[in-house]
Amino acid sequence: MSIAQNLLKIKSSLPANVTLVAVSKTKPIPDLMEAYNTGQRIFGENKIREMAEKWEQMPKDIQWHMIGHVQTNKVKFMAAFVSLIHGVDSLKLLEEIDKQAQKNNRIIDCLLQIYIAEEESKFGLDENELDSVLASAAFQEMKNIRIVGLMGMATFTDNQEQIRKEFTHLKSIFDKLVTLPKTQNLEPKTLSMGMSGDYQLAIECGSTMVRIGSRIFGGR
Ligand SMILES: *Cc1c(COP(=O)(O)O)cnc(C)c1O
Repeated sequence: MSIAQNLLKIKSSLPANVTLVAVSKTKPIPDLMEAYNTGQRIFGENKIREMAEKWEQMPKDIQWHMIGHVQTNKVKFMAAFVSLIHGVDSLKLLEEIDKQAQKNNRIIDCLLQIYIAEEESKFGLDENELDSVLASAAFQEMKNIRIVGLMGMATFTDNQEQIRKEFTHLKSIFDKLVTLPKTQNLEPKTLSMGMSGDYQLAIECGSTMVRIGSRIFGGR
């Protein structure tokens, strides 16, 4: 099947409240343009340089999502245009995003990445770290970032019950976050979980944003 056919098939299967991020990392611009011409406007990349190059060359009505691990010293290369940063996992990174957003005279939407997997390799905050970021004076004084939700990645396994347990855990943290008083920099509404292999399960568990790459663009 073509990229366009894959995309249309996935889109028609998603509930109306679930947003699709087309994960285009490593893929060439003609592949992204095929998705664009099928109507896709949200693309996810995991390397800042690659995302910036694609942003320069592609139509300007695309929303670029940074889904990968972000190094503090590279935030400046995307601060002018990034639409949502999924993988924010420290107060220090949030401070740098706030600073670079201020330089660009804008507010940058962020998701806090929560560690839910049993693998050592995954990034993210645990629940206590999440609480302490939100309670910190540094966070409360930030004017140029907005936390719009959470992101998480399940363990890479075939064990569906394990994945369900991890997604359900993240959903429960999200539900708690949503009950906090909204402020100018805390407006949680997005729960980013689910990739090609587990997005249907993620949606069952309450995901509102899925990040799908290989099911659209083929293997990498
Ligand atoms: C690559 C990647 C995806 C998409 O993975 P697929 O299995 O190709 O759908 C989703 N989320 C993150 C954080 C990724 O790095």
